[in-house]
Amino acid sequence: MRIKVDLKSDEIPRYWYNVLADLPFQLDPPLDPSTKKPISPEALGPIFPMPLIEQEMSDQREIAIPEEILKEYAVFRPTPLYRANYLEEYLQTPAKIYYKYEGVSPTGSHKTNTAIAQAYYNKISGTERLVTETGAGQWGSALSYSGAKFGLQTNVFMVKVSYEQKPMRKYLMRLYDGDVVPSPSDKTNFGRSLLKKGGDMPGSLGIAISEAIEKALSDPRTKYSLGSVLNHVLLHQTVIGLEIKKQLELLNEKPDVIIGCHGGGSNFGGTILPFVPDKFSGENIRFIACEPTACPTLTKGEYRYDNGDTAGLTPLLKMYTLGKEFIPPKIHAGGLRYHGAAPIISRLVKEGIVEAIALDQSETFEAAKLFSKIEGIVPAPESSYAIAGAIREAKMAKENSEEKVIVFTLSGHGLFDLSAYV
Ligand SMILES: *Cc1c(COP(=O)(O)O)cnc(C)c1O
Repeated sequence: MRIKVDLKSDEIPRYWYNVLADLPFQLDPPLDPSTKKPISPEALGPIFPMPLIEQEMSDQREIAIPEEILKEYAVFRPTPLYRANYLEEYLQTPAKIYYKYEGVSPTGSHKTNTAIAQAYYNKISGTERLVTETGAGQWGSALSYSGAKFGLQTNVFMVKVSYEQKPMRKYLMRLYDGDVVPSPSDKTNFGRSLLKKGGDMPGSLGIAISEAIEKALSDPRTKYSLGSVLNHVLLHQTVIGLEIKKQLELLNEKPDVIIGCHGGGSNFGGTILPFVPDKFSGENIRFIACEPTACPTLTKGEYRYDNGDTAGLTPLLKMYTLGKEFIPPKIHAGGLRYHGAAPIISRLVKEGIVEAIALDQSETFEAAKLFSKIEGIVPAPESSYAIAGAIREAKMAKENSEEKVIVFTLSGHGLFDLSAYV
């Protein structure tokens, strides 16, 4: 029997959880790229609307989710928690494996959780146009969908290699009236400067972010929107972990290991952050971030201040980074091709609270194929890093005859990524 835990629609969390209130240390502040001094909220004003800047800097533990956002969350939330019965049986592991499935969102990934919130706060702040970057297209489609919901225009710079490899999400963005161009593009000074150099330009998230910010800075009613990395993005994603907490309580389970794939850290952070205080209060719980060996930010990067984009327009963030000029190889998990990482997750790794591992694409593809066949869900290439991480843990549990509880987030479906798997 397949075990599935649904929450009732009135059990959607009514607040986001802000881990900054509970950390026994202070994060290093973002710095102004020109003065190298901590950046003021006003200095971020040309890029983000004030309510999001306040959330970025807030130390309030619980932040109420506005009714308008709850109403939009109700389109697809609460999302189900499944027990991976078939995978357990296949692996013959004594471990219990659960996964939180975010692929039921309108655009097929967890990104909608923050896209809706960001579109809402922009709308009430007078923004007319949102501009952003996207890798594989999940973020661009989530923001285009949310922009359409709140009556905002959405402009998307899509990393060129993904624009070419993954045409389906570009169509999805257009379905929601999003305007999508390949990056580097001829729409910005930075894009034009790169195109002039010639050669094969796969693009990168860092380049696309630079283009999007340049656009946002050129018009006061246009704001920039980021799909990962920043504190407010991880904050919005905590609906994932808060729901998992309730679902595990209904099952009378306590997690021993929580796993997620890691690109910029938003689905991973959203999953684990609500459990971090349990670890501080002495519970024996492990958090594992899974990233590609091709873009090994947390496992091989340096922990230092760096820009979030290639041109150096964003504030300097203290994070693990491969360097802002790093252009990752063309792996299929486009959403994991980012040189940096969320400052919150970076610090938790630095403090030894979060473990990070790097996996090869071959291992994650095998995991994705197996999962598609036996659990009946085609995972996003990004999410398959979490599946592969969970399989490693389940095999270890078998070797050690341990009955541990493994929980992972399946951040999205891969129905638009099928060309990657065949
Ligand atoms: C964008 C994306 C990721 C990577 O981004 P994070 O911010 O690290 O979560 C992972 N999985 C899916 C399905 C995505 O769309």
